Formats: sequence, C-alpha cells, structure tokens
Amino acid sequence: MFENLSEKLQRVFKNLRGEGKLTAENMEAALKEIRVALLEADVHFRAVKQLIEAVKEKAMGQEVLDSLSPAQQVVKIVRDEMIKTLGTHQAKLRLANEPPSVLMIVGLQGSGKTTSAGKLAKFLAKQGHRPLLVSVDVYRPAARQQLSIVAKGIGVPVYEGTPEAANLPLELARAAKVEATQGNRDILLVDTAGRLHIDDELMVELQQLKELLGPAEILFVADAMTGQDAVRSADEFHKRLGITGVILTKMDGDARGGAALSIRAVTGQPLKFIGTGEKSDAFESFHPDRAVSRILGMGDVMSLIEKVEQNIDQKDAEEMQRKLIENDFSLEDFRDQLKQLRKLGPLESLLGMMPQIGPMAKELKNAKIDEKEFTRIVAIIDSMTHRERDNHMIINGSRRRRIAMGSGTTVQEVNQLLRQYTDARKMMKKLSGGFLGKKMGKFKFPGFGDFGIR
Ligand code: GDP
Repeated sequence: MFENLSEKLQRVFKNLRGEGKLTAENMEAALKEIRVALLEADVHFRAVKQLIEAVKEKAMGQEVLDSLSPAQQVVKIVRDEMIKTLGTHQAKLRLANEPPSVLMIVGLQGSGKTTSAGKLAKFLAKQGHRPLLVSVDVYRPAARQQLSIVAKGIGVPVYEGTPEAANLPLELARAAKVEATQGNRDILLVDTAGRLHIDDELMVELQQLKELLGPAEILFVADAMTGQDAVRSADEFHKRLGITGVILTKMDGDARGGAALSIRAVTGQPLKFIGTGEKSDAFESFHPDRAVSRILGMGDVMSLIEKVEQNIDQKDAEEMQRKLIENDFSLEDFRDQLKQLRKLGPLESLLGMMPQIGPMAKELKNAKIDEKEFTRIVAIIDSMTHRERDNHMIINGSRRRRIAMGSGTTVQEVNQLLRQYTDARKMMKKLSGGFLGKKMGKFKFPGFGDFGIR
C-alpha cells in the first residue's frame, strides 16, 4: 500500500539530501517534484494545492533556509502537513449514548461493504462489544446470503428477518434494531444496498434508513483501487447523505495511496478504518500519523506493535523484554519468536511496516519470503544441543558441520541463521525501548535518524 507514492517521495527527498545547502531555487524545484509525485499518486489536485501551499509557506521561512539540515526540515514540514491533511487525530468510532448504536455501511457495489461490515463486527467484538449484523440489500438475494456467511465465519449473529420483510429494507432495518435492543446487542451494523453507480432511488432509500435508524455513524466504504473515482463517490455520498467517516478498502493492492490523502481533503470526513486484505482480520484503525510515516517510507512501527500485542501473550512479551535487557535472548527464544511471528500473518506485510525496511519493500517483494525458510530455521535450531542454543558463541566450525548434517542443511545455511539471529538480537534490542518496555520511555523509531525527525 502507498508504495508508489512512497517511492516517489523517497526519490525527491533523496535528491534533497544530496544538496549541500538549500536555496530558494532548489527548494522550489523540490516542491515541484513533490507536487508531481502527489498528483501522479492520484492525490486530488485540490488536496495537492493545499498541501504544497502550506509546505511552501513554512519551508521558505528563513529559519529553514538557515538551518543546518534544511532538507530534513522540509521532510518534516511535508510530513506535518500531510498529517494535517489526513486529520491530526485518529478518528474514533462514534457510539450512541443509548445502545444499540447503529452503524450504517454505505457505498457502491463491489467496494467491499459486506466484507468490511464483517471485519468491523469482528473488530468490535474483540473489543468487548456485542454487535449484531443485518443486510438490507433486498435487491440481490446473494448479498444477504453473503453477509450470513461472513457472519458465521466470524461468529457474530446476523438478523435474518421474517419472510414477509424480505423485500422491505426499512422494515428489515426496523426489526433488526428491535432485535438488537431485545437481544442486548450494543451495536447494530447495517450493510446497505449498493449500486454500480449512484442513483436517486438508492439515495432516497439510504436517507429513509438514516431517518429511521438515527445512526451514530454512516461509514462510506471506498475502494482504494479506484483512485479518484472513490474520491468522487465519497464526495457525492457525503453531499446527499452526510457521511461521518470512511473505510478505505483494498489498501493491500496496488492502490496509489492518493485516495487516502484526498478523501479527507474533499469531504472533510475522516478515514476511520482501512481494509488490507480479504480475510476478516485484515482491518485496522486508520492513524493519520502512521499512514504518513508509511507514505514517507518510515515504516509503521506502531501498527506493527499493535499487531504484535494483539497476537502475542503479554507474559511472553514481558519475559522476552527481561531476556533482551539481560542479554539472555537465546536461539531457543529466537525459534519461539519466529513461531510467534508466523501467527501474525504474511511476513511481507509485516516487513512493509518496519522502518528502514519500508523503502526496501519492493526488493523484498521480489525476493519473496520463502515459507520453507522457516521450517529450515526451526530444523537447524532443533539440531543444536541445549548448551549451543543457550550460548551461540560456542558453535564452532565442527559444531556447525554437525548441525548442518543433523538438520539436512548446509554449513552456509547454519552460518546464515546465526547471522540472522545476531541481527535479530540487535534489532530487538532497539525495539525493546518500545512495546517491550513502555515504561522505559518513548519509543524510538530506528529509521528516523535518516530523516532527522524526532
Ligand atoms: P460489496 O459489494 O460492497 O458488499 O463488496 P464485497 O464485500 O462483496 O467485496 C467485493 C470484493 O472485494 C470481494 O471479493 C472482497 O473479498 C474484496 N475485498 C473487500 N475488502 C478488501 C480488502 O481490503 N482487500 C482486498 N484485497 N480485497 C477486498
């Protein structure tokens, strides 16, 4: 996600860094390049204009020109302005004072409404809510069926309705709300009908649903792959219905990232969630600062940490923290950590979130992380003795040969693993200032040094 935009901006900043001293002229040239990069990445021209003007005003200030590292200052200004464009705070989901809170999911057909309704229900259930799902798309029988299948998959109940109401979206919605109240469900997610294009009939129906249900949120589902089309329909839905937030789906695809920056600028409504895959847990809260860091290639450590925290036992994490601090992180721990990592999902998506690795994501993608590699690493570590696993320093040449034989690998592969292990130790030590040791103060972004951003 965001890859194209990220790559382009990286190039601009790289050139900027190359300049010894920043002058009014080369700043102008850099701004022009940033502008082109944003436009090419499908950011709406209005959003680009705003952004560039704001950056220009700040960047041309005397302070920047006189500072020791003007290029870094410019990067920081671009970053701050991009965050401003996206909204400075994470936009939390609004809930009603009186349950059930109704969340209407609207958007064009195929944008990912049903999938997102399911993902959001799962997300909310994980937070301790008791959601109920209902589809009021009576025009395509398959749509309601699809939601039922999705609901089953995530273990969230779905309101099926009576046969008499099968063709009446308003009646279905009304009855679902009653069901939610009676069944002690605190959130009702309403998957609405979509069309290929915006039409009056649909808009009238959505307005009636809005009136009837008094939703806490009307979330517009936008398909990031459709770029400016998504921005246009978000704008149209907002004008006619008054949306309160956006779920941007298919951010795992080749989306040019621009839609994210544009939607907020054009509708004034915040992005609340992003969909990053077809599976029900490929769904995250949208954080403007993290998204911008990702666009600028600084990785997205906070998202990674959240993912890790969700999936890794707190006790294990604390134990690992202790081990890291005491330099006690053995090969056995390394193996266990790798196994844990497997639980987090595809390695590529995790690596993309890491700073420093972010800019290299493309090469990594080409390299294709080999699933077999994991099995090999585990086999190698399993072939070591306890003492060897405890202290890798004793693994000399003859031990390496024995381990290679035992695990059906080569000495080179054993060497490689030991290198990976020592690298991981170093890396984890850096990370240990963060999620492993919140008490130890502010998280340090390993990649930020390059940009000189604090
Ligand atoms: P609806 O017509 O708006 O309800 O759209 P669906 O929920 O049926 O989604 C349309 C297609 O997009 C389905 O094939 C989904 O699996 C896919 N989809 C939805 N969200 C995402 C996402 O975040 N990433 C990817 N890769 N596919 C998605």
